[in-house]
Amino acid sequence: MKIIKVGGGCLKDPKTIARIVALMADRGRGHVFVVSALNGVTDLLIESMPAALMDEAAIPGLIDRLKHRHHQVARCIVPDKPALKAYYRDLSTSLNRLERLFYGLNFTREITPRLKDVISSFGERLAAQLLTAALCRQGLSATYRLPHKIGLITDGKFGDATADLTKTGRNFQHHLAPLTGPGKILLLPGFFGVSPSGDITTFGRGGSDYSAAVAAVALQAEVLEIWKDTQGFMSADPCLVAEAELIPVLSYEEAAELAYFGARILHPRTVEPARKKRIRITIRNTLAPEAPGSEIRSRSPRSRQFIKSVAHDCDIGILKVHASGVGARPGILGQVSSAIAARGINIKSVVTSQTCISLLLARKDLVAAREALMGIAPRPFRKIDAQEDVALIGIVGDGIQHRAGIAARCFSAVADCRVNVEMISFGPSRAALYFLVKKKDLESGVNAIHSTFFSTPRCRRKV
Ligand code: ASP
Ligand code: MG
Repeated sequence: MKIIKVGGGCLKDPKTIARIVALMADRGRGHVFVVSALNGVTDLLIESMPAALMDEAAIPGLIDRLKHRHHQVARCIVPDKPALKAYYRDLSTSLNRLERLFYGLNFTREITPRLKDVISSFGERLAAQLLTAALCRQGLSATYRLPHKIGLITDGKFGDATADLTKTGRNFQHHLAPLTGPGKILLLPGFFGVSPSGDITTFGRGGSDYSAAVAAVALQAEVLEIWKDTQGFMSADPCLVAEAELIPVLSYEEAAELAYFGARILHPRTVEPARKKRIRITIRNTLAPEAPGSEIRSRSPRSRQFIKSVAHDCDIGILKVHASGVGARPGILGQVSSAIAARGINIKSVVTSQTCISLLLARKDLVAAREALMGIAPRPFRKIDAQEDVALIGIVGDGIQHRAGIAARCFSAVADCRVNVEMISFGPSRAALYFLVKKKDLESGVNAIHSTFFSTPRCRRKV
């Protein structure tokens, strides 16, 4: 049995969704689908919470928008009258529930993490309900189940939950085994599970991939297929590098490293559960369903050039915390990182020297992180600088940290293009090497490295 994840990017307008439903009907029998919300619906739910908090008059309009969006798609994929009517009734029941939650939010005057997670989980619920109606209308034996009703158990951390694989496995075997089998199609909304105390908890934005990996482990699937509207993992971002190639096979470790970059191919934690049970992951392009895509498995064949991808991330800023003798002062790193963590800010990476701690953060977090550090008393540092005009380049490939000469080739490639390397980080990963350049140098830097490893050396000279 396969677990197939259908991403929100494939669920846009009625016509694209009709095509996805046809693909599901054609290839989905005997398998389980984990679905995302229709494109933009989760954003709409999250963005509407402050409006509903301020003024309850905003709520009916929002519910109408959701209703209209789902009706519009349903008219195209559930074209027969009685089936459409039955679907409208089910949708109304779900939307009434959601509406009550929005009024609750307005009444309590607070967007609690608990309420935020329940409300944002509705996009996936509505999508599963809609797609199931469309498949049933085609005479297929399709049904959907809600994660909190079938025991997809999490650790209860709102907005960033982790699944309990053992308990979830037991519950899924019990509740879902009878619903799967030859000819049957089972749908599950992605993105959330339920805490041991019964709270809906989401896995973070883009978390349906992770849900699908959890379902793959829980149901002991042979393979996890991720349906997207892109080819798969690429040797670089095709928007920056015209010669970027598809990566046909990569290892769990390489995929995990690449998932952290802006390419948004996979939710960063998807690989975790799949790797534990050695479940293969394949990325499939719904626009070219016969194309091979990328495959992720335990071992990837060594490529000639050892590196698989030159990735980049522009959403990055550095906070430099200057203090003398950093390396000899016990506790300073802990103090700095706890103050930042207490604000709920994620530190992407840390590099320290004797006089400075450099923290890599998402750019939007720079100001709040600085404030958090200024609040430490007594101050364990001399001054803080923030730098925003930087971008991160990551070279990813199994074993590259132990390959003599790879780093040297990268740095001489960028030096040849007169690009200055601002900061280097050899992280603990065997599969990646990261460094920072000025944002204006990103395109030349990435192209220089890519052409060094993937084709004849060529350098986009700066003018
Ligand atoms: N719908 C959720 C989001 O937009 C989860 C997902 O798409 O995977 O973040
Ligand atoms: Mg999404």
